[in-house]
Amino acid sequence: MAQDLGLQDCIYGVGMVRERPEKQRNPKMATGDVELEVEALEILAKSKVPPFVVENDVKAGEELRLRYRYLDLRRAPMQKNIIFRHKVITAMREYLNKHDFVEIETPILTRSMPEGARDYLVPSRLYAEKFYALAQSPQMYKQLLMVAGFERYYQVARCMRDEDPRHDRQPEHTQIDIEMSFVEEDDVFGITEGMFAHICKTVLGQELKIPFPRLPYEQAIVRYGTDKPDLRFGMEIVNLKEAVKGKEFPPFMDKENIRGLVIENGSAISRKRLEEMNEQAKNSGIGGVFWTKREEKFTGSIGKLMDAEVAAVLNLGRGGLLIVTAGDDNVFSFLGQLRNQIAVELKLHEPGFRFLWVTDFPIFETDEKTGRIVASHHIFTQPREQDIPYLENDPLRVRGRLYDLVCNGNELASGSIRNHNRQLQEKLFAIAGMDKNKYTMLLDALEYGAPPHGGIAPGIDRIVMVLGGLKSLRDVIAFPKTTTAQGLLEGIPDAVDPKQLKDLHIKFE
Ligand code: ASP
Repeated sequence: MAQDLGLQDCIYGVGMVRERPEKQRNPKMATGDVELEVEALEILAKSKVPPFVVENDVKAGEELRLRYRYLDLRRAPMQKNIIFRHKVITAMREYLNKHDFVEIETPILTRSMPEGARDYLVPSRLYAEKFYALAQSPQMYKQLLMVAGFERYYQVARCMRDEDPRHDRQPEHTQIDIEMSFVEEDDVFGITEGMFAHICKTVLGQELKIPFPRLPYEQAIVRYGTDKPDLRFGMEIVNLKEAVKGKEFPPFMDKENIRGLVIENGSAISRKRLEEMNEQAKNSGIGGVFWTKREEKFTGSIGKLMDAEVAAVLNLGRGGLLIVTAGDDNVFSFLGQLRNQIAVELKLHEPGFRFLWVTDFPIFETDEKTGRIVASHHIFTQPREQDIPYLENDPLRVRGRLYDLVCNGNELASGSIRNHNRQLQEKLFAIAGMDKNKYTMLLDALEYGAPPHGGIAPGIDRIVMVLGGLKSLRDVIAFPKTTTAQGLLEGIPDAVDPKQLKDLHIKFE
């Protein structure tokens, strides 16, 4: 009977557990020192030959694994990831419970109240041509809970957003959603830092250094070319504007920004790679990449602009390479991406977790397609007090009490101090061209003695991925969608029964 067993059969065996003979022990297995001397064996369920070999080092492609996710989840690494996720969430709950937070559930079926993404809509059967929307986050409800007097709220909340697919995005993701009354930034940061320290300690046995450093958005862009800087390596963007002032070099003339990166070990970057960078720059709409290496003299296309004094200011030592681009604000994002790529290529990352608060994001931006002013980050945000005078005439200048938590170059959380004043919130909606009538429930509530409040929502999937040192969000979600928003296991999205459509008053032309 035993000889006929397949690897995935489900069996029931009774017998004595005994030590294995010395030579048959397997130190690689948790149970490798013992074996069961089976006296009775029953096959509870036979397994068909699985479509792929269920082994740690799986050879099957991801599509097949997602189609048969229940088999993929049997593999030890996947079990480990999902259990790790459970431990992270348990640690979050432990910490928040200890600090007097109350876990409260909020509706999934709600009103269409766009928060920055497209809604998933749910047609109503009872009310023809009317819709619910799946919650993009509990944002409105958690603010209402503050008005209701629950001073400290949290929830492990599912958020559904119909956004364009991206490799690190899922149509539904889970947040540890937090909101607190009578708080300033320091309070929200303190709780969040404490929670992360607790997670790292209990789940990874690591002490985290808190508080985390803080950096205003504008400086993050100027120094790292991104609002999610990876601090595991240096290589900050340098400014050459002053250094090349008055020097004849046509590509730099009249350019608003002349910025670069200094790579300590210049010989690690080949000529071919420099040419590639030049192409990358051109594809990003920047004239090109110029460079100099500090050898006996300064070589390369901008060697003649260099001298020891300039090199000292830029921290360009012997053997170092300076890469420079010139243009408008797009040089920052280009150099930010290049900085990340070079760090991977040259293996510059220090081990461990480097957390950072990025603060003071602009509340509004100009929509590239329409040229109109829209909310850039989070409209339920209090403008910084000193910026309120600009709301009327120069809204793009207004910075909000907004913050993101970044770790190793990943955005792990977002939050803000909110408006507890109806007029101010309405004004923000108006500037961003948003229909305030969609948000009546929040605006009305703000007229009944709403306490000052603020919060944050760390994204659980990404946190588990980063803390677990994993590469894909799909490895930390039991039943994820593909990058193109499909469920291969369920076969979704899919057509539905015509009767269902009729019930929902839906007709296709
Ligand atoms: N609701 C926000 C979001 O989902 C987070 C927050 O501000 O608390 O991004």
